[in-house]
Amino acid sequence: MAVKQVIPCPKCGREKYYEGLCWVCQAEEERQDIVNMSKEQEEKEINSLLNIIASTGEMEDEQEVLFSKLVCYRDINTSAFAELAYEKGIYFPCGLYKDASEQVVKNLCTLLCQDDLDSFIANQILLCVSVAAARKEIRPIVYDCFVKLHKEPRAWRAKLHVNPDEYAVYGGWTYDKDFNIVETQYPVCYSLVQGTKEQHEHSPVTIAQATNQEERCPVCQAKMFDVIKIDGRDPKLKFLNIDGVIAIKCCLSCFFYNEDYFVSYDLEGNSKVLNDLQRDEEAECFISDQDYECITQNTYVLGEHPTPIRYHAQWNDWGSIGGFAFWIQDVEIKHCPKCGKPMKYLAQIPWTNVLNNAEGYGYIEICPDCQIAAVIHQQT
Ligand SMILES: [Zn+2]
Ligand SMILES: [Zn+2]
Ligand SMILES: [Zn+2]
Repeated sequence: MAVKQVIPCPKCGREKYYEGLCWVCQAEEERQDIVNMSKEQEEKEINSLLNIIASTGEMEDEQEVLFSKLVCYRDINTSAFAELAYEKGIYFPCGLYKDASEQVVKNLCTLLCQDDLDSFIANQILLCVSVAAARKEIRPIVYDCFVKLHKEPRAWRAKLHVNPDEYAVYGGWTYDKDFNIVETQYPVCYSLVQGTKEQHEHSPVTIAQATNQEERCPVCQAKMFDVIKIDGRDPKLKFLNIDGVIAIKCCLSCFFYNEDYFVSYDLEGNSKVLNDLQRDEEAECFISDQDYECITQNTYVLGEHPTPIRYHAQWNDWGSIGGFAFWIQDVEIKHCPKCGKPMKYLAQIPWTNVLNNAEGYGYIEICPDCQIAAVIHQQT
């Protein structure tokens, strides 16, 4: 077998096995291109995308990528897209309907209420209206429709896996078993950025730090981390409504394998893993003490200014707090193990931020009422 040749990225030196920039630097260049675009250029791109949809009735992959970057990085208004897409019967990507008018959303809900709708199309439309209902003025229309569909499923429901409440989370909301509306995310978003040691010392948010007292995972004996630590009293983080310090403890080696990894916390920086953790001699420990040293040296800090709310719903290798996440798989909102209510997405951490060549993202969710957090891992 041929040994693959390591080719360092010409920009950051990251080791990889292909020519050119590494994917992180590539994504960063693309992000900057979109962010630095002039208003005129933005208008030109939007018009060209609209023309393509109008003439061909679809978007190619490349155009879809551009569209989604314009939505995430520049938060463009998509009402014209929604109007046109509806007229053409296009329901993908769902972001087209982010700023859909009340009338378009009502029309989509009428479609959903039909029995003879194709289940594949129903699946797409459920996502479209869920995203549109991120806006509070649109939400009652979609909520009423979802409750109706939940209680009296139409024929197309038989081929779908889940009820409408599991679609709603794509718009950052859902409802509980008593049909009370629940917000599943925060309305403000900040990046987590590489800072200096000094900035790190004063940052109200830190990731993957050593716990106050050294503690080892009962299962695999790896050292435990505070996967995220947040001082909610910082003025920038007012939107979290956390009146104190929360630190979410976790074994980075074990939680990958736990579908449900729950942690209870208080507002004084203490936390406790709720899973039944028994010593398992077979459990592999993936985080050596050496890795631990390296990971806890990271100096990621809270960004200076809030970003657009979908800024980090792109695969750009940035951690973030609040707003929409970039879910590698489906959006995964856990239910609180204590009260049963849908939890609230809090933060995401790409593991490459703390350990070179680590794969996937960690996601943290909380139930503020019960002071319980979930730590979730996803990768391709
Ligand atoms: Zn690079
Ligand atoms: Zn462990
Ligand atoms: Zn709860």
